[in-house]
This record gives sequence, C-alpha cells and structure tokens, in this order.
Amino acid sequence: MNKNTRVRVLVVEDERKVANALREGLEGEGYEVVVEHTGEGAFFRLNTETFDVILLDLTLPERDGLQVLTTLRGRGVETPVLVLTARDALEDRVLGLDSGADDYLVKPFAFAEVEARIRALVRRGRTTEAVRLAVADLDLDLVTRKVTRAGQPIELTVREFELIEYLMRHEGQVVSRGTLGRDVWKETARTTPLDNVIDVHIARLRRKVDLDHPVKLIHTVRGVGFMLREGEPVTPGMKARETK
Ligand code: CA
Repeated sequence: MNKNTRVRVLVVEDERKVANALREGLEGEGYEVVVEHTGEGAFFRLNTETFDVILLDLTLPERDGLQVLTTLRGRGVETPVLVLTARDALEDRVLGLDSGADDYLVKPFAFAEVEARIRALVRRGRTTEAVRLAVADLDLDLVTRKVTRAGQPIELTVREFELIEYLMRHEGQVVSRGTLGRDVWKETARTTPLDNVIDVHIARLRRKVDLDHPVKLIHTVRGVGFMLREGEPVTPGMKARETK
C-alpha cells in the first residue's frame, strides 16, 4: 500500500456508538473516514465519491445492508465491502459471500481485527497481482488467508499471517527488525520491547513453518534481521566473501 495515499473508508452504520468508535479508531490509524447512517446516504455518497473499502452494517433502517450491497454491485460499484453483522443476523448468503461481500466480521469485533481485514481488502483492491504467494513449498492465499507448507495447513494468528506475508513478499531480502516494526507492527519508534515481540513472533513462525521440514525457510541474518528463502541466506556481504 502506498503510504503517501490515505486509504478512504466509507462506514455505513446506523448505530452512532459503533460508527463513532470505528471512525475514531480508523482515523487514529491514518485512514480517511466518512460515515453514513443509512443505505440511501451511502448511495448518494458513492455517486460522487470513491472509496478504497466500504464497511457495511447489515441491519440498517429502511433498506438493509444486503439490499444496499446488491444494489451497489448492480450499479457496477466494485469497491471491496466488509460486512459487519450481529451473529443472529448472520445469513447463509453472507457466509457464502455470494451477496457481493468480500469479507465479513461478526459483532462485537476487536478493532485490530477490523483494521487487519481492511488492510487485506485494500491490498487486494489496489493491485492486480496474484492473490497467492509461494516460496518453495510454502503457499499463502491472500483471499482465503490460508497458509500451507507441503500441502499441510498452518494455523496462524492475524499477526503471524501478516509477518509471513511480509517475509514472502520480500523473499531473499534481509528484513530488519526496524522494518518489521514499521511495516508490520506499524510502530514508528524502534524499542527493545517491540524487538522482543518480533523475535517471539519469528520463533513461533519458525515452529509452525519450519520445524517439521528439513528445508528451513526462515533464516536469521546475524546482526541484521531475517530472511525468507529456500536454502541458506545470501547477503551482499556474504557474496563478497564467497567471491574472494
Ligand atoms: Ca445497525
């Protein structure tokens, strides 16, 4: 995601408390947020403005969220939609996502989860790149968020998923703790506690990704950071030594 471009989020939610909490949280993370309390308001807004992602509550006055969504898709609006819903309103149509929704979250949700989903949707919406990453026999599907090694599923937390995704996108490159802190943890300042958190996550990823496999993919580049690569890491310094 281009850091210079603020991601625009349209929140369609009639509950003021929820809408305000989302606005505050997302604005705090640097997103540009517009709130509409009705489907009509959302339609009106989308006639003249574009967004990177739409957060759509299912239970809205007048027209419900699914009707709003169907109409939007019918009009050719392809903006990724994250549906927000109470568990009792969760319909099979939404679960199957055949309503035109890209993802859904059940209320009450943790804000961190909302943000993670938005980031995933925006990334998908903004690029036409493959939705699947692969390094050796490690596969990551950005749509289903499933990760497998040699065909075996690996259960990852949201953060672990983000971390392995980042390492896979930078395959063969040395990634420092400072870079991970900034790009994955979104922390501007590098701190020892954060470094420790990163190390803990790397250790967990190693257990999940590498432990049962003879070929290790996650490597520590001493004094620099980490590298995901099939085989031993090669750094510019090491190359120079090899050619001596
Ligand atoms: Ca509602």
